[in-house]
Amino acid sequence: MVPSAVTVDMGPPTPESERDVMLGDLKEDSQPKSAVLHRSLKTTPLQVVSGNGKYLTFSNGHTILDTTCGAAVACIGYDNKRVKQAMVDQIDKFSYCNSMFFSHPVGEELAAELVRGTGGAMSKAYIMSSGSEAMEAAMKMARQYYMEVSPQQPKRINFIARESSYHGTTLGALSMSGHVARRGLFLDMLLPNISRVSACNAYRGMSAGQTVEQYVEQLADELDRKFQELGPETVCAFVAEPVVGATIGCVPAVPGYFKAMKKICDKYGALLILDEVMSGMGRCGSLHAWQQEDVVPDIQTMAKGLGGGYASISGMMINHRIADALESGTGIFSHGHTYQGHPVACAAALEVQRIIREENLVENVRNTGAYLENLLHAHLDSHPHVGNIRGRGLFWGIEFVADKETKEPFPPSANVANAVHLKGLNDLGISLYPGTGTKDGIVGDHVLLAPAYTSTSEEIEEIAMKSMSEELGQTQQET
Ligand code: PLP
Repeated sequence: MVPSAVTVDMGPPTPESERDVMLGDLKEDSQPKSAVLHRSLKTTPLQVVSGNGKYLTFSNGHTILDTTCGAAVACIGYDNKRVKQAMVDQIDKFSYCNSMFFSHPVGEELAAELVRGTGGAMSKAYIMSSGSEAMEAAMKMARQYYMEVSPQQPKRINFIARESSYHGTTLGALSMSGHVARRGLFLDMLLPNISRVSACNAYRGMSAGQTVEQYVEQLADELDRKFQELGPETVCAFVAEPVVGATIGCVPAVPGYFKAMKKICDKYGALLILDEVMSGMGRCGSLHAWQQEDVVPDIQTMAKGLGGGYASISGMMINHRIADALESGTGIFSHGHTYQGHPVACAAALEVQRIIREENLVENVRNTGAYLENLLHAHLDSHPHVGNIRGRGLFWGIEFVADKETKEPFPPSANVANAVHLKGLNDLGISLYPGTGTKDGIVGDHVLLAPAYTSTSEEIEEIAMKSMSEELGQTQQET
């Protein structure tokens, strides 16, 4: 696919707090002023007019291979006929019902499918519309659990989250997030009962000569100290992404990390909440990312790959400990949304999940992911400005550095990740999801790759070749 040219005006460098640029920030000069409140009010983004498999076409005729599934969402492509039919079939039956009062067949089937996918480790699924909502629900569920099992424990109101994390944009989820730029304007409005410990980031966090075991011990000690500092009896849950997504770019935990963290949670009777909004539902090579960590969370969330972008849908699953406590307690989850368990969204997600299962797509993620990993390492390890390549399954991050020896990042004013993203989009016809470091010490420009689960070896080669092209290399050297 040879893309036609597109004119993009990068404008002046954006200030630090606005630098975590996401797809959609591009300006197309010919675009009329928009009535939509876009993320940027200064530029009007390109309009997508059609999606064909893994390709997206804009109104100016420019077509790109979507190597990131949007924001790691469109995992089975943009125009799957089975999913479309399942949604139409549902609308033919009924378009909406109030799922706070009623149930419906696709909701029941989806929840059963999700619970089965955990091998029975989880007990129940709660369906909502966005990742942020799922994280809000997880927080409230954790809090309610302690009120159910021990109404005398009203003190368990603290959450321990991690630096450089992202859990959503609503105030509760943002309070848990360690995303400095996105929190910036709202610091005075965030919940006070969230503390943070270091992220598990081998490239940035491990000191020279340190073994993985020593690093895990260091992080476990830090978590233990945080419990002690807060008072262990006041801590409700430890919250983490199994593979950190957008903030620092596809950073998996080192082996043994989650087991060690869970041990500390167990020691103090606190819950483990895993945010799989981005890394879950097959993205990392297992249906749930925690299935590679030898731990089972008490509560998990998921979203992007759940509905593959066909509908706005997210989920929270709770394990038997939590479900049993609620069942034998008040019997009511004190939460609810007008659009929870939306039948058309459930029909879409159910079909997406059936396709993933029937077509062995998680296995394909593992196989093509391993191929992508090899190609990236073979061709980029020696690049003077590629500091680190990390990821899992079909979820890969490439971190750029000014100096490979010292790991010194590029200055924020260079806008490296965005420049690479624009170059990919304009000259190579691929989307690379850019992310730029924050000021909290764990810095660095990166781009993220998250191809569709249906990718073939040939497409992986195309993605890898374009991601490694000399033109992109030059962008990093120029900046
Ligand atoms: N949690 C994680 C790990 C995410 O990556 C995101 C979004 O990128 C969210 C939560 C919030 O999801 P949403 O944007 O659907 O509200």
